[in-house]
Amino acid sequence: MDFKSIIAHCKEYGFIFQSSDIYDGLSAVYDYGPNGVELKNNIKKYWWRSMVQMHENIVGIDAAIFMHPKTWKASGHVDAFNDPLVDNKDSKKRYRADVLIEDYIAKIEAKNNKDVEKAKKKFDNFDETMFRSTNGRIIERQTKITQISKRMADAMTAGDMAEMKQIIVDLDIACPISGSKNWTDVRQFNLMFSTQLGNIAGEEDKLYLRPETAQGIFVNFLNVQKSTRQKLPFGIAQIGKAFRNEIVARQFIFRMREFEQMEMQFFVQPGTEMKWYEYWKETRLKWHQSLGTPSEKLRFHDHDNLAHYANAAADIQFEFPFGFKELEGIHSRTDFDLKAHQELSGKKLQYFDPDKNENYVPYVVETSIGCDRMFLAVLSNALQEETIPDSKGNDSTRTVLKIPPTLAPVKCAILPLLKNKPELTSKAREVFESLKGSFNCQYEEKDAIGKRYRRQDAIGTPYCVTIDFDTLEDGSVTLRDRDSLNQTRINIDDLKGVLFNKLMD
Ligand code: ATP
Repeated sequence: MDFKSIIAHCKEYGFIFQSSDIYDGLSAVYDYGPNGVELKNNIKKYWWRSMVQMHENIVGIDAAIFMHPKTWKASGHVDAFNDPLVDNKDSKKRYRADVLIEDYIAKIEAKNNKDVEKAKKKFDNFDETMFRSTNGRIIERQTKITQISKRMADAMTAGDMAEMKQIIVDLDIACPISGSKNWTDVRQFNLMFSTQLGNIAGEEDKLYLRPETAQGIFVNFLNVQKSTRQKLPFGIAQIGKAFRNEIVARQFIFRMREFEQMEMQFFVQPGTEMKWYEYWKETRLKWHQSLGTPSEKLRFHDHDNLAHYANAAADIQFEFPFGFKELEGIHSRTDFDLKAHQELSGKKLQYFDPDKNENYVPYVVETSIGCDRMFLAVLSNALQEETIPDSKGNDSTRTVLKIPPTLAPVKCAILPLLKNKPELTSKAREVFESLKGSFNCQYEEKDAIGKRYRRQDAIGTPYCVTIDFDTLEDGSVTLRDRDSLNQTRINIDDLKGVLFNKLMD
């Protein structure tokens, strides 16, 4: 489904609303509605279960959003958490210079993919790898991509904003809105929001809204290690809000100014970090696949331009409706953060290794995924328009959200066949009451049954239970499966057990 339809669906079915909608909204800030909050909580639960509950050596914390201002000095965020900003003088639109260049690269990539698709159709036994490595035009474009990427990575690493501007000029990049090439200089822009502690404004009392949850983990490293008596390697996981004053935020919940991260910092012996980096790359990719995300919609993208704290970094990219973009980052952060906090605080942040009988600062491998981006990935992968037969056997279309049952906001809808038959509605209520303690259920009696099925399909409810006149006779109900549309009769007494088995699959 296209991006616009996904956004409209989110509003219509109570997944996501623009923040402060009645005041015409607040840019790049969103609220989750009744179905959205369920889906988001389920994503968080699924992540927490697989990272914390399933790993004996990973424990959780929930650190405060406000932290001592020195935290952000030590972490490098005060000095280096910048994005390169550029304005178009004619359209007055603001852009991230690196994103303009990345979009330029994506267009070249798209041309290559188009050529591959064409050739695929032309030749039997088509060998894509061979084609890509031998076709002259593709090689030429690929070389150009590599050159531009390298040039940009060097400029970003050096913080050379004049060179960033020169790349835009050399590539003849135009403003996507006005087509104008009249650019300002490229400037660094710090992404942290600041506020103050107490009511006296001044540098001393300046506080930041955390731009990542990771630092709450680093400053608690010893508290957690000592209180849980974990041995290396072990991890600390956290889910929480982060805030970034993004320069451009025009992509719905993909890029927000207030968002939620699910992060895990894995502390390891120095020298073993590359092994763990590879381990977490693979493990995290499998996590996405386990949720039914097709492999062809996922890919790794290694960073050319490493952040100030990293010695290796890769993104897991997902094919969003606007192309392959970062969904999750896996970063080998070395001992940068713990060492920096140790220096600035004057407190030791070292691990005593009983096997080696020595103290050292551990190295860190991080997995960091945006909960909201995951939400968008799940939704854009699962939302589909489908043609199905209606009750008379004619073709009809339905919008269906084919999400895994474990993520579904509502697990089961209880539907009396007719609204104005008290014997049906009271029986349906009885069934609802018996199930609601075990699963998130919904009782619905308004509108014709077909319409109610459609509404449940649109929010991804995997099962509907219909109570009809036969129910009153023999105690059986119809269980309808969202994906196969199969309807089976089962006894009310077996309903909870059957649902439990199906939802645990
Ligand atoms: P980008 O390059 O897209 O700005 P990033 O590399 O700055 O992202 P990280 O600092 O690695 O992102 O943050 C880890 C994860 O947090 C990202 O993979 C993404 O899922 C999420 N994230 C980062 N910024 C935002 C944002 N503004 N809105 C929503 N999610 C975000």
